[in-house]
Amino acid sequence: MDVLISGAGIAGPALAYWLARFGFSPVVVERAPALRPGGQAVDFRGEAHLSVLRHMGVLDAVFEAQTSPRDMVFRGLDGRVRSRLPAWFTAGEVEIRRGDLSRLLYEHSAADAEYVFGDWITSLHDDGAGVDVTFAHGQPRRFDFVIGADGMRSAVRRLVFPEYRPTFQGYYFAIWDADGDDRDMVCAPGYVAAPGWLMFKSSVPPELMTDALTAPDVYFDSISRVRMPAVSSGRVTLIGDAGYGSTLGGMGTGVAVVSSYVLAGEMAAGGDAFARYEALIGPYAHGCQGNTGRFLAPSTRLGLWARDRMFGLLPKMPMFARVDMQRATAIKLPEYVPAR
Ligand SMILES: Cc1cc2nc3c(=O)[nH]c(=O)nc-3n(C[C@H](O)[C@H](O)[C@H](O)COP(=O)(O)OP(=O)(O)OC[C@H]3O[C@@H](n4cnc5c(N)ncnc54)[C@H](O)[C@@H]3O)c2cc1C
Repeated sequence: MDVLISGAGIAGPALAYWLARFGFSPVVVERAPALRPGGQAVDFRGEAHLSVLRHMGVLDAVFEAQTSPRDMVFRGLDGRVRSRLPAWFTAGEVEIRRGDLSRLLYEHSAADAEYVFGDWITSLHDDGAGVDVTFAHGQPRRFDFVIGADGMRSAVRRLVFPEYRPTFQGYYFAIWDADGDDRDMVCAPGYVAAPGWLMFKSSVPPELMTDALTAPDVYFDSISRVRMPAVSSGRVTLIGDAGYGSTLGGMGTGVAVVSSYVLAGEMAAGGDAFARYEALIGPYAHGCQGNTGRFLAPSTRLGLWARDRMFGLLPKMPMFARVDMQRATAIKLPEYVPAR
């Protein structure tokens, strides 16, 4: 069966890998002209994340490419250190640069999937027996299923659920390549900045920033949350940030990898696969979502003071790390048996 995946970030290549192992023929269409290299560190924590990576045969490679986690240091505008967020709190069990992870998953799946770069879906027509798809550049094709793995601003989501808008949480976030220590931050009420990234509070609604937020050559997004009553319609469903995104701080990478295994396993089992996928992944992914903007860059002086106090107390309160671990492991993964 032919499955079209829109997006070659993290969820797309992970799903392509699993679909091929379960006997499907995946085609991945990525809007950018090549794999997008950018991003800071993302992390995996707990047995659900690690066991899927182990099953995929990439866990050792992830550990080999891991970063050296360091405390995040928050300075005021005068350069004085205000607080530190300990590495053990932010880095999970293994932390890897997002671009390295995306490449690793791409290389791991490329032999058994067709990748098309520099193209994107322009229309979908689901007639119940298959989905007719047109592309901006390529010839129209028909697929058995279509999966939107195209991130927070998912085009598949826009086509299938045109009314739905992610919930804006009042902050924007930008990442780019820069020299310097990305853990050494300057902060003031409403923003935090470090070499290579910037998070700031703003009341400009994402609808007015659509071009900037969807430009393929920069990772700039609103801090928003995708929480939909259902992420599937007929033969189309959503995975990763497209269906369950939380821009930063929602364990989006771990959730995407776990979801790829569950979605492919359920599709292989047949029947009402998307409903079973949603029933398992929905509560798990929603439980992982958070608002990192408010957490890292509170908008008032009092809020900043309270944040610094809380970070100072973290070493004495390891239960905070346990809360994240509980969320990351709050799923019982079914044992699917791949065809190969
Ligand atoms: C360049 C980049 C840098 C990032 N950096 C960080 C970071 O530093 N920290 C962090 O926590 N998270 C980061 N993220 C987000 C993080 O990767 C996701 O939250 C998480 O890993 C879930 O992955 P995903 O595959 O669902 O989404 P993403 O990783 O966002 O991947 C979506 C993919 O879909 C592609 N796409 C978008 N629109 C279309 C379309 N119309 N047709 C086809 N393809 C399309 C995008 O180019 C992208 O490759 C970054 C994402 C990107 C794209």
